[in-house]
Amino acid sequence: MIGTLSPSILWSMKRSVRLAEAPPRCTVHLAERSVYAGGLFRLRLMPEAPFAFRPGDCVGVYGPVGNLSRPYSLSGGTGDAALELLIRRIPGGRVSDWLYGLPVGARVEISPPFGWFHPGEAANPEQVWFATGSGAAPFLSALRSGGVRPLQARWGVRFAEDLEGIEWPFERYVSRGVSSEGRGGRVTADFDEILTGPGVHYYLCGLDAMIEEISSHLAVRGVGEDRIHRECFFQSQAR
Ligand SMILES: Cc1cc2nc3c(=O)[nH]c(=O)nc-3n(C[C@H](O)[C@H](O)[C@H](O)COP(=O)(O)OP(=O)(O)OC[C@H]3O[C@@H](n4cnc5c(N)ncnc54)[C@H](O)[C@@H]3O)c2cc1C
Repeated sequence: MIGTLSPSILWSMKRSVRLAEAPPRCTVHLAERSVYAGGLFRLRLMPEAPFAFRPGDCVGVYGPVGNLSRPYSLSGGTGDAALELLIRRIPGGRVSDWLYGLPVGARVEISPPFGWFHPGEAANPEQVWFATGSGAAPFLSALRSGGVRPLQARWGVRFAEDLEGIEWPFERYVSRGVSSEGRGGRVTADFDEILTGPGVHYYLCGLDAMIEEISSHLAVRGVGEDRIHRECFFQSQAR
């Protein structure tokens, strides 16, 4: 009978319930960090236990204090020994800046994988991809995992330096400055060049402004919501 239990037992029961409700955490160790000139960096994290995920899945990465966490898309292949993240450093950002400064060997806690955005999925054999900045991450994971290759794929960054060191075997756009590696302008430019067809699915990942603009273009062309897949990393007003 619960009414006969002592206050200390009741307290420990409540605590156990709280612990049971907390999402499980997985431990990984920072094996390598690659910093790219434009503010992106890539982390390779060795999990302590096998870690299965689908291309496009995210993990919650716990920051330096308490339960503070941020979602990050896995950018590596599902068959790789290490997990990879592609992150834009936000100076002063509580998690991205902390991750940027972590020493190799550091222990990091992450959540189990989760997600609803899965480029490269076999169910949709005709795909067109749009990414801005670190929004390339889920697409890189799909490419490295051997998923469906897109008919077209555009990746847009702010500065030419962002393109360095990251393999993107499709169209690249640089919105500020000039680049010999990419076209000038935004991924939303020259939309008439984008393939359409009744079976084409569109995958959009990155900044909300890009996602909204591409969605509007697609709506004008009569593409239904069921063929537009979105993952918003950043809100323009937060920048
Ligand atoms: C589903 C999902 C997946 C994501 N995957 C990735 C990923 O793979 N790679 C990645 O880099 N990010 C990803 N993000 C974004 C990431 O979760 C964080 O929001 C981001 O790293 C900022 O967190 P922070 O703790 O460093 O900054 P915070 O401490 O939350 O913010 C610090 C300050 O920076 C401002 N700020 C926030 N975002 C920006 C920005 N883009 N530019 C300038 N200032 C900003 C805030 O308004 C605040 O003033 C994802 C987000 C979602 C929702």
